[in-house]
Amino acid sequence: MPAKGKIAIVGAGLSGAVIGRELALAGYQVEIFDARSHIAGNCHTERDADTGVMVHLYGPHIFHTDDAEVWDYVNGFETFLPYKNRVKTTSQDQVYSLPVNLHTINQFFGKTFRPDEARAFIEEQADKTIEDPQTFEEQALRFVGKDLYEAFFKGYTEKQWGCSPTDLPASILKRLPVRFNYDDNYFFHKFQGMPENGYTDMIAAILDHDNISVKLETRFDRAEAAGYAHVFYSGPLDGYFNFEHGRLGYRTLDFERFTYQGDYQGCAVMNYGDASVPYTRITEHKHFSPWEDHAGSVCYREFARVCGPDDIPYYPIRLVKEKEQLAEYVARAEQEAGVTFVGRLGTYRYLDMDVTIREALDTARLYLSKTAKNAAMPAFLHPPV
Ligand code: UDP
Repeated sequence: MPAKGKIAIVGAGLSGAVIGRELALAGYQVEIFDARSHIAGNCHTERDADTGVMVHLYGPHIFHTDDAEVWDYVNGFETFLPYKNRVKTTSQDQVYSLPVNLHTINQFFGKTFRPDEARAFIEEQADKTIEDPQTFEEQALRFVGKDLYEAFFKGYTEKQWGCSPTDLPASILKRLPVRFNYDDNYFFHKFQGMPENGYTDMIAAILDHDNISVKLETRFDRAEAAGYAHVFYSGPLDGYFNFEHGRLGYRTLDFERFTYQGDYQGCAVMNYGDASVPYTRITEHKHFSPWEDHAGSVCYREFARVCGPDDIPYYPIRLVKEKEQLAEYVARAEQEAGVTFVGRLGTYRYLDMDVTIREALDTARLYLSKTAKNAAMPAFLHPPV
C-alpha cells in the first residue's frame, strides 16, 4: 500500500498505540512521540528482576469490558488469562469485602440478612430526602446510608481526591455497585482478564507495524504540528497550550514499594477506608498473575496527592469550579486545526482502559472517513464538557 501523509501521535499509551495501528494499517506513516522512557503510559508493566513478579508500575490495572469488539481487539495482541478482581477493605480494625455486598452488610451490621431483607434494611438507612444526587456524598447517603458511607467511602475518598466528597461529582461513586448477594466481583462486565505477559507486551505488539516509528524520551511541541497531515494528542490538554489558562487539577500517586517473602496480604488489592491510615490501598502485584508462582512478593503502598508541575498526572479532578477553565481549553482546542485530543489526559476524563480503546478505534475510523471525504476532523470525539 502506498504511504499517505505523515501522522504524529503524542503519547505511546493505549490511545496512541491503537490509533497509530489503525492508521498504519490504512497506509499512513505514523510517528509516535512519548516523553517517558517506555511505552504503555500508565498501564506500563515490568517484571521485577529479583522476584520475577509482573509489576503494574503505575498502580493496578484490571481489564474489564462489555464491549465484545474491544475484548477481541486486545485478545488479538495478547493472551488474556482469567482474573476476577476481588477487592478487600480494612476499616475500623476489620477486613470487609468490596464492592459493598451481602457479606459486607451482614458483617458490618452483625446480621444474617437474606437479599430482600438486606435491601429493605439499606433502604431504611438511605437518606430518601435526596431525590437527585449530584455529589459523591449525596450519592452515598442516598444509596448506602451514613454508616457504610463513613466506614468505606468518606475517608478513602478524602485521601484519594484531597477534598470533601461534597465537592466531587456523583459519577465517581457510580463506578461502584452495591450488591444484595454474595457476588464480590468488583466489576460487573462480561469480559475480565489480565494480559499474560503484561500490558506493555500487549502495547508493544499493537505498535509492531512497519509504518509505525516510536520516539521515546521525546517531547512534541505544538509548533511541529504543521509538518504532519494530522496530530492525535493524548498528553494533558492544558499542557498542549502551555498551561496558558492555568493548570487543570489532577491527582498524582506516590508508591512506597516494599518486598516480602511469601504472601503479604492474600489478595491483590487491600483498600484502607480509615482517614487515619495515610495510604489509600496496598497492591500485592503477584496476585494479578494467579497462574504464576513466586516465593517473593512486591507490594506498593499507594498515596494520593495533588499533582505538581513535575509529577505524573493520574486522575482528572473535575471540580465543579474548574468547569470554566476547562471550557477555555476546550474552546482553544476547537480553534486549533489539524489536532484531535484523545484519551484520559487529552480529554481530561476518568476513563477505563476499555473505553479508551473503544474511543481510539472510533477516532481512527472517523479520521479515515473524514479524510476520504476531504472533511475536517473535530478536535474531540468526546469533548470533556
Ligand atoms: N472508593 C471509596 N472506597 C473504596 C474504593 C473506592 O471511597 O474502598 C471511591 C473513591 O472515591 C474512588 C472511587 O470510589 O476514587 C472509584 O473507585 P475505583 O475502585 O473505581 O477507583 P480506581 O481503582 O479507578 O482508583
